[in-house]
Amino acid sequence: MKIIDAHSHIDYLTHKHQSDVVGTVCCTNDENQWTQLIDLIHNDKNIYGAFGVHPWFIDSVSDGFDSRLEELLNSDSDYMVGEIGLDKYKPNMDKQIDVFIKQFNLAVKLKRTVCLHCVGAWDKILHILKQYDKSKLPIIIAHAFNANQKILEQLLIYNNIMFSFSKINVYSRNCRIANIPNDKILVETDGNMDVCLMDVVQKIMTIKNESDIAEIIFNNTQRILKHG
Ligand SMILES: [Zn+2]
Repeated sequence: MKIIDAHSHIDYLTHKHQSDVVGTVCCTNDENQWTQLIDLIHNDKNIYGAFGVHPWFIDSVSDGFDSRLEELLNSDSDYMVGEIGLDKYKPNMDKQIDVFIKQFNLAVKLKRTVCLHCVGAWDKILHILKQYDKSKLPIIIAHAFNANQKILEQLLIYNNIMFSFSKINVYSRNCRIANIPNDKILVETDGNMDVCLMDVVQKIMTIKNESDIAEIIFNNTQRILKHG
């Protein structure tokens, strides 16, 4: 089995700890981590970088962060955008939206895969997505996806939306995974060393009753790394 972790952070490089895992998508939390991640990528070809400011860390944002992010993304066409998004349980939603949209616009402009964090704010994300031409949207990975069926249906109208999962026991209680097309499924640790990705893939295999799901998930990851 070959697996790529579709969402981790710089402190947990999954491929160095779990057999079968051959690569790790690493997201940054804030601008301070950008240089650190570039160094890691330059020393390890199995690390794939997503750069951005996470909604929990918007206090760290300083003037011009978006032009610096654009310059960074332009320096390497492999770079993705993330982790960006909205979180209802964190302060200052207006600023979160502003920071998110600035980064999302760069991903749209430069056609880069987006690692999206959304907690309790799908109404806002769906509203924002409607402002864009559907055919121009980049791949968007709804990480640790845990929304209800109604939201899932509204998201599935976007061809480029994908969903990544870690703790299947919790997330699958409404058979969400069963309702997601195979070509939109990814697996992730989110930097949590207790998540064994081989177990996650095997659980998805059982839910889907599909023996080649591991290969499908691996191919899905290849698509996100190529931005589509
Ligand atoms: Zn994360």
